[in-house]
Amino acid sequence: MPGFVGHTIGNSIVLVGTTAVMASQGWSLADIAAVDAGIVVANFVLSPDLDLFNSRSMDDWGWMRIFWWPYAKMVKHRDAMHTPLLGTLVRWLYMAVVLSIVIVPIAIILRRMNFSMTFKGDAEDIVWYLGYVADLLLGATLADTMHYALDLVTTRLKRLVPRRYRERYARYAQNHYDRDHRLARARGFIPEGEQR
Ligand SMILES: [Zn+2]
Repeated sequence: MPGFVGHTIGNSIVLVGTTAVMASQGWSLADIAAVDAGIVVANFVLSPDLDLFNSRSMDDWGWMRIFWWPYAKMVKHRDAMHTPLLGTLVRWLYMAVVLSIVIVPIAIILRRMNFSMTFKGDAEDIVWYLGYVADLLLGATLADTMHYALDLVTTRLKRLVPRRYRERYARYAQNHYDRDHRLARARGFIPEGEQR
């Protein structure tokens, strides 16, 4: 696995490439921004590596990682949810459900207080918004495809490297991991002795 930095570099290339292609095809600025937002969110927030409860993607969620605990428990690392599109849709739907668990009670309370929240637009507006949802998902799918491709390529490359070099690298990576995660471990986020 290329790790967080590797994936972020890969997705930066996706971001620049997608923006260039869409701009050359005359897409509107709003559409381009929505696709780009999908790429950014897929990289930093709804990453395929959320199935690793101790991954960098998880650390960024802070105490809110509790929301992802059921997901990480259900999904084994690099399982079906690591594949683009399927995994992308499941993660975004999961997020939508989590958000609605938070938002719906607030909406009910507001309604009790006679605060009107009804949608005043017509059907055309809904279609218009759905277009942006599609843009977001397209961007996220592109980013997750890059993530998957990088995972595959680096796994293949790793097998080509002689074992002793691989072990040396593993020690080096572990040292880095230990140093970077000492703080998280001190805060009790990572159980003692647990390794990635
Ligand atoms: Zn991965």
